[in-house]
Amino acid sequence: RPRILSGMQPTDSSLHLGNYLGALTQWVALQEDYDALYCVVDLHALTVNPDPAALRERTRATAAQYLAGGVDPARSALFVQSHVPEHAELAWLLSCQTGFGEASRMTQFKDKSAKQGTEGTTVGLFTYPVLMAADILAYDANLVPVGEDQRQHLELTRNLAERLNARFGAGTAVVPDAHIVGSTAKIQDLQNPTAKMSKSNAGGKGVIWLLEDPKKAAKAVRSAVTDADDSYAVYFDREAKPGISNLLTIYSAVTGRAVEDIAAEYDGRGYGYLKVDLADAVVAFLEPFQERAQTYLGDPAQLDKVLDDGAERAREIAAGVRARIFDRFGLLPRG
Ligand code: ATP
Ligand code: MG
Repeated sequence: RPRILSGMQPTDSSLHLGNYLGALTQWVALQEDYDALYCVVDLHALTVNPDPAALRERTRATAAQYLAGGVDPARSALFVQSHVPEHAELAWLLSCQTGFGEASRMTQFKDKSAKQGTEGTTVGLFTYPVLMAADILAYDANLVPVGEDQRQHLELTRNLAERLNARFGAGTAVVPDAHIVGSTAKIQDLQNPTAKMSKSNAGGKGVIWLLEDPKKAAKAVRSAVTDADDSYAVYFDREAKPGISNLLTIYSAVTGRAVEDIAAEYDGRGYGYLKVDLADAVVAFLEPFQERAQTYLGDPAQLDKVLDDGAERAREIAAGVRARIFDRFGLLPRG
């Protein structure tokens, strides 16, 4: 079976709706037909220097949300990135194959480093896409389900894989494809619908957190910024109506109804009706999700067991790939 690998950062204890719709729902669907590996990428989270106790708590919480979202550990390997040392080892080899200019072109680095300033920006944040490439190449993954925001990083991974094959011989690395689902691929910030909903959005007023009080999420929806064309027209057009289009996308995703259907229902009635009903739909989605997450968060020993099993399965694969790539690079094997 073809293999897929994906992960999310434990940047916060809660994932947000963009992570859920852009990533988690795809993971759940794909685990049926693929040999799936899903990790909590704690090494990536280190790029912003988190508090150690918070990081530990967030790593478990992120894993609990994978499970609550439907990742099935009987089918998929669910693990923590730092439990498999091959990620960091391969990242070094790949960083020595990545051009400085090439890495400098990553738009996510430009966005995040601009927010943090030169002194607050770590070298780790700069080399983040290289570690992501290592995550993927360490498993010979064929497909990587990600949101639209990760397209450029995946392109870098593909380039690196092709470079390895050219320099060290065919078969050194598997060139992965991106799996990006169109309509829900990008959820925007409710307060700023031209920017993506993100864990690192300071303040987070425009973010729907999966583990927050559903009442707060409902309020965030009701106070979403809508488009200032002051008409009652409700239709999907990300250019002309970014705010409304984002609300329609979310509405469709949490209810399973078609966007056109929803647009037709609210067209001409004013934005307020759309927001109030969407707020209810979001609450109806969050409540059962949180109940499921709580069952895993309430039993950390069981959760750690799941993560341990997952790391075991992941390591079996990664150790073999590491041996192959180290050898191709000319690193001397231990006698
Ligand atoms: P950060 O701001 O710390 O980068 P993030 O919100 O981007 O956090 P990640 O852990 O980087 O979250 O990404 C996890 C997954 O969620 C990735 O597959 C990414 O493509 C997806 N994702 C993140 N934000 C969105 C979004 N707004 N819409 C759709 N998918 C998203
Ligand atoms: Mg991100």
